[in-house]
Amino acid sequence: MTANLLDYDLEGLAAFCEQLGEKRFRATQLFRWIHQKGATQFDQMTDLAKSLRQKLPQVAHLEIPRVVSRQESADGTIKWLFDVGGGDVIETVFIPEADRGTLCISSQVGCAVGCRFCSTGHQGFSRNLSTGEIVAQLWFAEHFLRQHLGRSERVISNVVMMGMGEPLQNYAHLLPALKVMLDDHAYGLSRRRVTVSTSGVVPMIDRLGRDCPVALAVSLHAPDDALRNDLVPLNKKYPIADLLSACSRYQKFAPRDFITFEYCMLDGINDSVQHANALVSLMHAQSADGLSCKLNLIPFNPFPASGLVRSPMAQVLTFAKILSDAGIVTTIRKTRGDDIDAACGQLAGDVKDRTGASSRMAAQRQGMLGGIKVVVANKVSI
Ligand code: SAH
Ligand code: SF4
Repeated sequence: MTANLLDYDLEGLAAFCEQLGEKRFRATQLFRWIHQKGATQFDQMTDLAKSLRQKLPQVAHLEIPRVVSRQESADGTIKWLFDVGGGDVIETVFIPEADRGTLCISSQVGCAVGCRFCSTGHQGFSRNLSTGEIVAQLWFAEHFLRQHLGRSERVISNVVMMGMGEPLQNYAHLLPALKVMLDDHAYGLSRRRVTVSTSGVVPMIDRLGRDCPVALAVSLHAPDDALRNDLVPLNKKYPIADLLSACSRYQKFAPRDFITFEYCMLDGINDSVQHANALVSLMHAQSADGLSCKLNLIPFNPFPASGLVRSPMAQVLTFAKILSDAGIVTTIRKTRGDDIDAACGQLAGDVKDRTGASSRMAAQRQGMLGGIKVVVANKVSI
């Protein structure tokens, strides 16, 4: 087995080069060829010593998962399905906007957290993606889009880890992937333009703060533990108070940044005026603690097995107004790509559940190839 060079951040690639008896700066050259220029053949890398170019094919390769399908929405959103082997499929979504291009990336095949309103959660968990599989989604999308759109400069300006999976339950593979995204010799994305979204894996929020404090989005969905336990089962392990304390600690590593709280609006479940008021109290208590936060309301994207219903827009607006009136910066996420099932949480691929927990869902999943999350937040103006 030769090494998949997409598995390495620059440090890892330098160590790999050293093992080959090469100088560290060779790693920088190699890294640029792969990520900036999208080279797939070592003999394209003309400024590498000829001896290295000849050696590399024997010890290294680039592994890009096979594209199963590509769908384009009327609004320009593009969704790819990638085959990652063993019958597992993951999804990646590109969302173009006037001033940015956002790529929504998957971190796992399925998800073990099992949130009630999330199709990925209903599918169960198959496996973690490798660093190379996380990075390959960005590599492929960036270089495909440059060709597709006839652009020579960078197309993807933002990355959100909001595809399939809980990124902080795959931390070991996530961290080098984030480093590749931020590296100036690769994609050169700024820390604030890379967002990790989490259902609240508290110890890993602390580690991310220390290792790589990118933008953080926390999927809250409820203002109290009883309701959150029901919607996001991980809350039983890391209740709201612990989660919010972790957010305050995180902010010390990213002092000028907001933490975004995501709140999926579910009709009759978490969308009442009482819930909004409880959320205001919770957020105000946090602000008093020094936490700067934004609220992002996500209209629920239904899927058959959930048994849940999207809150009516009037209710979403009432909820948003209560928050805004209380001085909390609130946005409502605009759904993009829903004609190709690329909207938040409709998910996704045909996941082989290896936990067995959700095999009963298999029948209901049939024909439900679905989307991912979409992150176009529109400021609420009421
Ligand atoms: N596991 C991480 C990241 C992936 S989910 C997390 O939970 O944060 C990304 C976002 O999509 C989360 O805020 C999640 O709550 C939301 N989401 C999941 N299913 C959804 C659905 N059916 N409709 C709307 N948003 C959904
Ligand atoms: Fe997993 Fe996030 Fe879906 Fe919850 S919302 S099941 S954490 S992917």
